[in-house]
Amino acid sequence: MITSVVYAFDPANKPVHTAKPGETLVFETQDCFSNEIVREDQLTTGFNYYRANPATGPVYVEGAEPGDILSVYIDKVEVGERGVVTTLPEVGPLADKAEIRTKILKMQNGRTTFNGLDLPLDPMIGVIGVSPAKEPVACGFPGSHGGNLDSKLVKPGAKLYFPVRVPGALLQLGDLHAVMGDGELCGTGLEAAGVVTVTISLIKNTPIEWPVLETADYWYSMASDLDYTKALVAATRQTADLLGKATGWDLTDSFFFLSLWGTIEVNQACQPCPVPMVLRVGAPKLPGKPLIAG
Ligand code: CA
Ligand code: ZN
Repeated sequence: MITSVVYAFDPANKPVHTAKPGETLVFETQDCFSNEIVREDQLTTGFNYYRANPATGPVYVEGAEPGDILSVYIDKVEVGERGVVTTLPEVGPLADKAEIRTKILKMQNGRTTFNGLDLPLDPMIGVIGVSPAKEPVACGFPGSHGGNLDSKLVKPGAKLYFPVRVPGALLQLGDLHAVMGDGELCGTGLEAAGVVTVTISLIKNTPIEWPVLETADYWYSMASDLDYTKALVAATRQTADLLGKATGWDLTDSFFFLSLWGTIEVNQACQPCPVPMVLRVGAPKLPGKPLIAG
């Protein structure tokens, strides 16, 4: 079990484990508040965001080189018995009207109780990725290396593909949400500590710019920016390029296909917020035409 945490995706981080492609890894993760918020009278006022979202790792993957893809299949996401949801100062569309409040919910057998209502959980991973090439990125921020992607689809059965930028890739993950809606409106999901099991593999010499997510039905590119248009252009371009390579279509036909059968969904967009929004542009799976082979 891998347990030690870091607060940035950073090429200077010391690996805490060395893995071979094909290996299954188990990470113990802290919640996004480093497990420090345990009572409802603890508020996020003054919380240092650069100390948020600890990620467990990193793991050095043998043979991973820049230009490769590290694929990460999510076998299992198990959350603890306590979930925390909080408002954050000046974050989210209701920030000017809502109070700063902390709510702690008990979780059991995949369910929780919210204001007397029995509701389902759907655990997912908020922070997951590999090292950027040079400059460190705090774990609370998303980028082309992954990081705080905050997608409710990053859950068991999904597979992620990350662009390797440094030798060994340096995989790390954390920030589990027991449940989260698209957009993560108030800036937090149901934040939880837990245990994550993944199986990694390596695809040599296949450069991508942004993380790719494969679900049962779709291939998505996930891109982030403070500006919606820039994130949209980046994710659409990559999905269209991959689709063109898989099908032999030119860019215009891929553009048509995405316009007719594609999907644009929000990972995290709790604006106003200093953290870039993250969106995903997806193409439905076509039989025998994987957007990334392997
Ligand atoms: Ca997050
Ligand atoms: Zn979180």
